[in-house]
Amino acid sequence: MNDSLVKAMALDGHVRLYINRTTDLVQDAMDRFHLSNPAADALGRVLSVASIMGSMLKSDKEMLTINILGSGELGSIVVVANADGTVRGFVDNPSAGLGGDGQPAPRVSDLIGLPGTLTVTKDLSMAENWSGTVELQNGEIGQDFAYYFTLSEQTPTAVSVGVKIDETGKVIAAGCLVLQMMPDADSTDISICEHVLSGLKPMTSIIEDYDDASLALLAEDLFDDTEVLETIPVSFKCSCSKEKTAGLLKTVAPAELKNMIEEDHGATVTCNFCNADYDFSEEELKKILEETEKHLEESEELESHVS
Ligand SMILES: [Zn+2]
Repeated sequence: MNDSLVKAMALDGHVRLYINRTTDLVQDAMDRFHLSNPAADALGRVLSVASIMGSMLKSDKEMLTINILGSGELGSIVVVANADGTVRGFVDNPSAGLGGDGQPAPRVSDLIGLPGTLTVTKDLSMAENWSGTVELQNGEIGQDFAYYFTLSEQTPTAVSVGVKIDETGKVIAAGCLVLQMMPDADSTDISICEHVLSGLKPMTSIIEDYDDASLALLAEDLFDDTEVLETIPVSFKCSCSKEKTAGLLKTVAPAELKNMIEEDHGATVTCNFCNADYDFSEEELKKILEETEKHLEESEELESHVS
C-alpha cells in the first residue's frame, strides 16, 4: 500500500471516520532531518494526526499549524497541514533521545516532557485565524489530540496513532485513525464505537495487517455500514522554493547582505520546515541587494511625500 488517507461515514452518518497510512511520509521526514528513532516517532505521530486534521478543512485555501511545546529534550514540535492531506514540520532537537548503547529508547511522552501544551491555529483564508490550546494529557499524542478535539472543537473524538521504526532507522509502519461522533449520535452509536475501539489493535499493527490490502477495506471492516467517501494520497510536502527564499533575503538588512557577498561570497539558506538548502551565488545576492536598496529608496520617497 502507498501512503493514503480514507474518509468514511458509519452508523447512519452518526460517526465520521478518518484513517491514514503515513509510513513513507514519516520515513521522508526522518531522512530529511536525520532524526533519531525517538524523535521520528514523536514527529511522525504529529505529522500523521496533522494530515487527517488538514483533510478536515473545508477549502484548499485553508491550512492549520500544530505547535506542541513540552518541557523535555525534544523542544517544540511544529507541523503545518494543508487541506489536501500534505504536511510538513520539524522538531527543535532532531537527535533527542539517542542515549547510549544498551539504553532503552525513551517514550515519546518522556521526550516531549510534561507539563506542556498543544496549540492548533487554523488559517481560514478569508476569515480570521482561529486558535485553541489545551494542556498535554499524557504526551503520547493520541490522547492529547482526542482531548483537544473534545474540549476545543466540542467534538467527542478518539485518536489512535503510532509509528514503528526498526533498529536500522527504517520506518516499518505509521498511521492514524480518528473517529468522531456527530451531534446526532445517540447512546447506541456511542456504545458501538466504544466496542469497536476496545477491540482495536495498536495502530502500527493495523497498518501492517492491511498493508497488502487497502485503507478502504480497513474502514469497511470496522463497521457494518461503513460508507467510504474518498481516498486521497498523502505525503510530506513543503511549499518552499528558491523564489520564495529569495523573497525572504530581500527583507534582510543591506549591511548583512553586503557581508554575505564580500565575506562569504554566497549564502545557503535552509528551510526550517523541510531542511532543503537553497544556494545563492555572489551574483544572485548582488541582484537581491540592488532590489532591496531600490525598494528602500522608493519607500523613503513615499514617506517624504506623505509627510
Ligand atoms: Zn521547505
